[in-house]
Amino acid sequence: MIKLYGATTNAGKLREFGAEPLPGLDKTEPCAETGQTFEENAIQKAIYYSSFTTEFVFADDSGLSVDALEGAPGVFSARYAGLNATDDANNRLVLQRMAGIANRHARFISVIALARGGQLVKTFRGEVLGELLHVPQGTEGFGYDPLFYYPGFGCSFGEVSLLQKQTVSHRARALAAMREYLKEIEGNERAPGSAA
Ligand code: IMP
Repeated sequence: MIKLYGATTNAGKLREFGAEPLPGLDKTEPCAETGQTFEENAIQKAIYYSSFTTEFVFADDSGLSVDALEGAPGVFSARYAGLNATDDANNRLVLQRMAGIANRHARFISVIALARGGQLVKTFRGEVLGELLHVPQGTEGFGYDPLFYYPGFGCSFGEVSLLQKQTVSHRARALAAMREYLKEIEGNERAPGSAA
């Protein structure tokens, strides 16, 4: 059985990943996130944190991408309204920038990078499409969930349970792709004639 650790201290993400955090993560110097894309940031984090263990480590970078804002807040989702900005402040700024704009198409994107011993193994991307509301709805989830209307549910991500969100979410889709890949490599390691 492959041992896998998640490299995140974000409680909302950890709940959704259902993953064990990398031991000692809270005492480790945080990784810089200087990439211009979700892929670059996820890879940067996975490579850095996987150098502290011999097991597989995954890291994700995720965020909201709004068509009318040319992909913003994008990789700046967590700090759109400034360093250490609250979810409320970030949501307010998105609504302010979207005032009077009819095109409300938006998507959540999650990129997971899987690494081992400081080497990238593979990346996995998940996306979910929705519409930005004019007023936040619901108190479930985290981040931009109350602003994200998902047509398939007929309500925002902030109004559904974690279980329901996970049936379609960007993070669940990226995670499913990674689990599929891990199953494959586990199968290969057990296959007759393999070195493992
Ligand atoms: P990261 O920790 O750099 O990946 O930043 C992710 C940020 O994107 C979060 O702090 C949220 O603001 C936003 N975000 C990512 N995924 C979600 C989600 O599932 N719901 C709501 N907001 C999200």
